[in-house]
Amino acid sequence: MCGSKFTAFVMYIILLITFLGLINMIFNLHRFAFYAELLIFLGLFLAAIISAIGINNNFRWAWTLLTVFFIIVFLDMIFIYAISGAEIPYFLLLLVVAVVGFSISFFNIEKPKEEVAEEEEKKVKKTFKPGKYIASKTGAKYHAPKCDWAKRIKESNAVWFNSKEEAKKAGYKAGSCVE
Ligand SMILES: [Zn+2]
Repeated sequence: MCGSKFTAFVMYIILLITFLGLINMIFNLHRFAFYAELLIFLGLFLAAIISAIGINNNFRWAWTLLTVFFIIVFLDMIFIYAISGAEIPYFLLLLVVAVVGFSISFFNIEKPKEEVAEEEEKKVKKTFKPGKYIASKTGAKYHAPKCDWAKRIKESNAVWFNSKEEAKKAGYKAGSCVE
């Protein structure tokens, strides 16, 4: 959790530098190029805001969007440089920032390991059968675990039995899947 918050913080700073840099480069352009670049800038700005909201809400797609965003920023900066000729050190610095932003975004597209482990755990729990028959606390019938009805029973509502008698004693009737 702490790690992802730090990553998000770094990303916000990178975005800030990127936009300050872009503004600076764009305002050195001549009329037509200026308006064209202003449109691109607004598009990028919108994408960055949507991404920031996505990151803030832990949406994975935000990182995919940012990866594409930095590729466009990178190409756009090279283009602006080609038509305007910004100062080289300044231009290179911005390119490095864009590459760092791209790398962070790209590596965050992958699921964090904890999340993957959690999902694995859930799978194991679902296939774990602590009895021969299953019923729902809220239902009236008991089922074989392979039955479609059984699969719909939530883990928190599941009651397991080792025999039909046990299930009957608990007040459940046999479902059609139970022979
Ligand atoms: Zn059934």
